[in-house]
This record gives sequence, structure tokens and C-alpha cells, in this order.
Amino acid sequence: MAKICLCLTAKTIQRNLEILNKYRKFADMAELRVDCLDSDEQHYIRSFPELAGMPVILTIRRDVDGGYFSGGEGARIRMIARSLAYANDDSRYNFAYVDLEDDFCVPSLEEAARTFGTKIIRSCHYLQGVPDNISEKVRTMQRSADEIIKMAVAVKTTGDVNKVYQASKECKSNDKIFICMGHYGIFSRILAEKFGSFLTYSSALSEIEIPGAPGQIDVKVLAELYRFRKITKKTKVYGVIGNPLKTTISPWFFNTVFGLENSDAVYVPFPVNSINDFFQLAKEFDIQGLSVTVPYKETVLSLLSKYSNMVQSIGACNTMYQCEEGWFGENTDCTGFSDSLLAFINKKHLKHLKVSVIGAGGAARAAAAEIYRMGGKAAILNRSAHKAKNIAAKYKFQWGGLDNQGIEIMSKYSDIIIQASPVGMDGYDEVYNDPLELYHFTGREAVMDLIYTPPLSPFLKRAAAAGCKTINGYDMVIRQACLQYAAFTGHEIPAQLLSWISTTADNTWNKIHTG
Ligand code: NAP
Repeated sequence: MAKICLCLTAKTIQRNLEILNKYRKFADMAELRVDCLDSDEQHYIRSFPELAGMPVILTIRRDVDGGYFSGGEGARIRMIARSLAYANDDSRYNFAYVDLEDDFCVPSLEEAARTFGTKIIRSCHYLQGVPDNISEKVRTMQRSADEIIKMAVAVKTTGDVNKVYQASKECKSNDKIFICMGHYGIFSRILAEKFGSFLTYSSALSEIEIPGAPGQIDVKVLAELYRFRKITKKTKVYGVIGNPLKTTISPWFFNTVFGLENSDAVYVPFPVNSINDFFQLAKEFDIQGLSVTVPYKETVLSLLSKYSNMVQSIGACNTMYQCEEGWFGENTDCTGFSDSLLAFINKKHLKHLKVSVIGAGGAARAAAAEIYRMGGKAAILNRSAHKAKNIAAKYKFQWGGLDNQGIEIMSKYSDIIIQASPVGMDGYDEVYNDPLELYHFTGREAVMDLIYTPPLSPFLKRAAAAGCKTINGYDMVIRQACLQYAAFTGHEIPAQLLSWISTTADNTWNKIHTG
């Protein structure tokens, strides 16, 4: 099964050992990144495997390959030679692996490493995307059968991830490492076993100043939350697709439940920039179920073989799972939204209440359908006013743009305000973060922002400062996730488990960052 390698990038041997000892139980091996060490620390490298007490990879990464070593190649070769020298008969005292680049060619040193049981990782780093000839490159990299091929590619698209995965599939070596670095490649690290990699690199992110490589996942999160060491080729894969998918609590929620129920399943963040490319991978990994978020709730409709009445009625899907015919589409935003709103205002319906909805995407459509079902009257306001008009026409609601005319309408529909656009969400748009700055809260509105990262969006902050009763989208996301869980697995989350999860999450705010 794939192993976890803790990447050590501290400036001193001592600090690396402190980190290793603190996180030892989450790692199967360590990588000493010599290129990150202070220069006067280099004398102590040779003793590191013995001090570490676990298999160690020796790596001196050059700056051209994304590392920090900028000296000459002669100096680097001497450093590698010194680190492998004085080999001990007991191989635990030697480096277990040495990472040597594809263009590294010092046969005597490589032979000496082999003689004393140090395996060679033959690596290639592409920092500018996937090379055209990646499969050909992989075929020619390995110089002898005992070498481990490592291909690390900084991916820029989901299509890039697809290409790296195909190259991994074509590579017939047993021990190989294929890594997609960066945001779109995060799942290649979590699903290393399915990607065909013999190890995944991770870091103790809260301890280090220098990240080992872009997109590395925290070692504790990888081992404890994703239960990386339990992922086999048979483990069922679920996940969330979206773009940007910078922060999400869904992996925390689902993996916590899977862990507590001891299910052979994992839930993975899938930042995706091309739905078509992603669904090719979904087939390869036999993905069982997906949460769908911004901006794909409508895009995925064309991929569904069957869907619920709710999906048909509102034209948005946030939940997909495998059925006999293909993908089944469901929408759990609707019930998640109405249950959360009614609990927030402490009512059983919305009769005699006037509601404004900002946005006209999937979430706004779910909100409009539920406001109508619960007897409320609403105005839909959106940047593209024609989309607001389309939704409003269905329920005989008012509509407008995000302008002065919209504000005038909004002031007449202000018992409840629902903010259902992504404006203000972490990672969405750092500059423009309040969808309706022109609106002045009176303090009498009940304001619900469907965003939950950050917990207090600029819009919600303004509302709270004006004295409004406010709620963010956290309660809704948990409610809709419970419904998703039931759709994915066929059973509900035990009530006891749910109350434990809700209180824990509230205290710790378990966001997963995907770089
Ligand atoms: P979506 O389908 O992509 O719709 C986005 C909507 O926001 C569109 O109407 C769009 O207007 C508008 N919008 C986007 N950028 C804007 C900008 N810069 N200024 C003004 N309007 C802008 O997204 P969605 O699925 O409806 O999700 C919307 C938000 O709700 C997201 O933040 C999502 O995380 C949140 N949400 C939360 C939950 C929960 O459980 N708490 C559930 C669902 C959604 P145009 O039509 O003009 O493009």
C-alpha cells in the first residue's frame, strides 16, 4: 500500500528531528531536504538516518527543479557522496533512498549506493506543466530495474492531471511515484494508491516555513482525516467538485463520518476546471458519489441519466451518485436551506413574510423554490438581471439587478435577506467582496448568507453591525451534507454521531485548504 513520506524542510537537523518525532506516528518514511538546510548543518547529514529511526530519502533539490540548492553541480555531487559514504552493514543506519534526477549521471556513486542497499529514486520535475512526450519520457527514464521512477508535474488543469494519470497507468514498474503538484493535483496525493504511486509526500504544515512542494497536504490530515493508510484499490471514492475549491468543510464532514463508521470509503476535494476531463478520471477511479458546488450545479445536468423531481424543478444538481443507468442527480440544497432558515427565524412557514434573494445561480434557485413552497413572497436580485427574471417568473416573484432599482425593490422585501451569490467567499474575489454595498441595513432584517468560509462574510458583517439577526451557511451545509450522506450510502447518519460532529465542527471550524 502507498506510504506517507514526511518531507523535512527545516534549516537545521535538530529542528527536522523535532518535527519528525512529533509527527512520527503519521509517517512511514521521511525525506531530508538537504537543500533547505543551513550550510553549516551539512556536516551532520550522514548521521540523520540513524537519528531518524525510520527509512529516509536523501534529496538535494536544485532550484531549477523547484528546490533551493543553487550551488554548482560539483558541490552537489560531493555532498551526495559524503552523505552516502561510510556505509554501515546495518542498512538502517544508511539512507534508504537517494533522489537523483534524470540528468544526473555519476555511475560510480550510483553503483556505491546500490551496493549498500540505498535505492535510487530517478526523478523528473516539470514545473511548467505536462511535457508533450510524458509517456515516452517515463519509458526512457529508468536505467535499471531496481530504480523507482518519480515524475512530479506542476499541473495547471484537470486535463494535465488526466495526462499524468495515463502516463502512470502505462508505466509498468511496481514502485513508481507520480505526483501532480498544485491546486488541481491535490487528489493525486490523497489517492496515491489508486494513482499507482508507491508513496505520497506530505509536510507538517503548521511547523514549517518552507513548503516541500506546492499542494502538499498536512501529514496529520492525510493520516487521520483521509485515513490514507487504509486506502486500497477497492476503497470507495466520493468527493466534491468545484472551482475555485480553495476551502471546503465537506472532506472533514464525510471523512469523519466514514472514519467513525469504519467504512472503506474516502471523500476527496476535486478542484476541477474541466468537467469533461474530470469525468474521464471519475470513470477511472470508479467514483461513487459527488457533491457539486460553484460553478457546476447546472453544468452537470447534461451528464445525469436520471434525476429527482427537485432537480428537474429547479434545474440545479448538487449531489450525484452512481445508479444502474449511470449518474443519478439529487438536490439537497433545497431541504438544507429551508430547514436551516425555519430554525433560524423560529417559524414553521414563511406566510406573510417578504424575502430578498441575492444571486440567481443554483443556490438561489433552490432558495426561491423553497420560499415559494413555504408560502413566502420574494424578490430575486442578480448581477445579470435577466437570470433573476427567469427565476422570478416561475413563482410570480419580483426581480431586479444589483443596482439602485434593485435596492428599492429589496427595501420592500426585507423581512428576510438571503445572500446566495459567492461574492465574499474565501478564494472567490479578493477585491470585490460585498454583492450589494449600496444597500443600507435597517437592523430589522433577518440576514442569511449561504457562504460559510469565512464564517462572517463582509456582507454578513455589515448586517450584524447594523443590528440584524444573522446566520451564515454553516448550519445549512451540515444539513444538506447529512442528506447527501444518506443519498450516497443508503443510510442516515446516526443521531448521536451527528450531534457530536455538529458540536466539534462548531468549535474547531474544520476547513480543508486545497492550496
Ligand atoms: P452559482 O450557480 O455559480 O451562481 C452564482 C451566482 O452568483 C450567479 O447568479 C452570479 O451572477 C452571481 N455572482 C457571481 N459572481 C458575482 C459577482 N462578482 N457579483 C455579483 N454577482 C455574482 O453558485 P451557487 O451554487 O448558486 O452558489 C452560490 C453561493 O452559495 C456560493 O458561495 C456557495 O458556496 C454558497 N452555497 C452554500 C450552500 C450551503 O450549504 N451553505 C449551499 C449552496 C451554495 P451572474 O448570473 O450574473 O453570473
